[in-house]
Amino acid sequence: MGEAKVKVPLLEVHDLKKHFPIIKGFFNQVVGHVKAVDGVSFDLYEGECLGLVGESGSGKTTVGRTILRALAPTSGKVLFQHGDESVDVASASHDVLKKLRPHMQMIFQDPYASLNPRMTVLDLVGEPLLVNGVTDRKEREKRVQDLLVRVGLKPHFLRRYPHAFSGGQRQRIGIARALALHPKLVVCDEPVSALDVSVQAQALNLLQELQEELGLTYLFVAHDLSVVRHISDRVAVMYVGKIVELSPVDALYEKPMHPYTEALLSAVPVPDPKRKKKRLLLSGEVADPSNAPSGCGFHPRCAYAQERCKQEVPELREIEPGHFSRCHFTETLQLEGQADL
Ligand code: SF4
Repeated sequence: MGEAKVKVPLLEVHDLKKHFPIIKGFFNQVVGHVKAVDGVSFDLYEGECLGLVGESGSGKTTVGRTILRALAPTSGKVLFQHGDESVDVASASHDVLKKLRPHMQMIFQDPYASLNPRMTVLDLVGEPLLVNGVTDRKEREKRVQDLLVRVGLKPHFLRRYPHAFSGGQRQRIGIARALALHPKLVVCDEPVSALDVSVQAQALNLLQELQEELGLTYLFVAHDLSVVRHISDRVAVMYVGKIVELSPVDALYEKPMHPYTEALLSAVPVPDPKRKKKRLLLSGEVADPSNAPSGCGFHPRCAYAQERCKQEVPELREIEPGHFSRCHFTETLQLEGQADL
């Protein structure tokens, strides 16, 4: 009888922090810190898509960039499974990072800004290949053509410049570039939010097909909850640098456990105008990460806040298997989801 296979995470993030110093005055004194990411932990399993959501300023994009070491973490571990080894990306040397780079790639939000307008598609998509040793031009051309076909573009687009393409096509070029080196992990940073709604679904479907075909693992950073539902297996909700809820996708939308998730869901417009739903207003702005509120960081905006919330910092607790919430009162709250989103 064969032994049961233990599921090993491709990525383990432990207590990740990214604090940006606030520098002021003639002597460039550090007068405080913006705690953009403040103790984030999660696992990401091979072949899975974890959605990371929150309002702008929640720290979700910084998590994605810090994991790839595009930003140096302040502290914490980012363990990436590379062959039989588990490598800490957070503390890896320049040489080790160089070896890991092909396996960890990013798809950017803005297909207009992320592609150099002076480079042809061949150079844009072929650059990572060239940097990683594919020096033969013919071989590069062939591989770029294959990649273009794979992302739904014509192979003869090779000699064109980015301005000749629509937003959706440019994002496909960005995707081809990210996939050129057969990565295992792809951080998708709001990959469809700059696209017209009409092409968002196509780009999402493409990302899903590629994930299945190539066995990719995604960390999918986005603010649009309907987009995240479409593509994710699990979802983590962030507020002011911390994960406040982490859950399998359906449970999060049908039965949220954190008041912030409930408020985010209630803010999404429903497609059916006849359907009435409770609409919770998220009053005020996202808290300032350089001066987070005491106790629960969400208490100034929370409809259920009590005295305890101002004093005591809640822990992220597993309430049901795989469903975590950072709220003192999760067990007593009856929160409303949005199952049909
Ligand atoms: Fe709201 Fe209190 Fe729960 Fe924070 S701990 S989410 S303030 S009820």
